[in-house]
Amino acid sequence: MAIIDYSNFVYLPANSNNYTVANRPYSNVIDKVVIHVAQGSWSSAVNWFQNPYSGVTAHYTVRSSDGFVAQSIREKDIAWHAGNWYYNQTSIAIEHEGYVADPKWFTEAMYDSSARLTAYLCNKYLIPTDRAHIVGHVEVPYPNDHYDPGHYWNWEKYMDYILYYAALA
Ligand SMILES: [Zn+2]
Repeated sequence: MAIIDYSNFVYLPANSNNYTVANRPYSNVIDKVVIHVAQGSWSSAVNWFQNPYSGVTAHYTVRSSDGFVAQSIREKDIAWHAGNWYYNQTSIAIEHEGYVADPKWFTEAMYDSSARLTAYLCNKYLIPTDRAHIVGHVEVPYPNDHYDPGHYWNWEKYMDYILYYAALA
């Protein structure tokens, strides 16, 4: 199993209004990771998930400057993030600090940390490490209408890192 460095990780629970309690992977298969860009700062994303009126959350949010990871809900629970209920039920959501139109947010530290997290999730739930199962929010079908992570997201690099970390397990 890939190693998550828990010194680089904090649990900041989302408000219980913003997700569905479940018992995955027993209640629903987990076979996808959905990649998001927050259109805001790391703290604004984590705070938004804690707002009882936001109606959204992700499982994890990765910080741009250093790759620091906040977990907002447990992997067994269903995050409201994809704009598509089937995808919500069957995925883990990873938010990334920054803006789709500004690639300076997509740092080496963020790609590295996020790839380690995704590799860990793929190994844990036997999710294939390919682009059919590690998808951008933009690839989630209707009624999703979001376009993140945008064309500045470096999928080639990201998938290379995921394959590297997944193989270390
Ligand atoms: Zn998104």
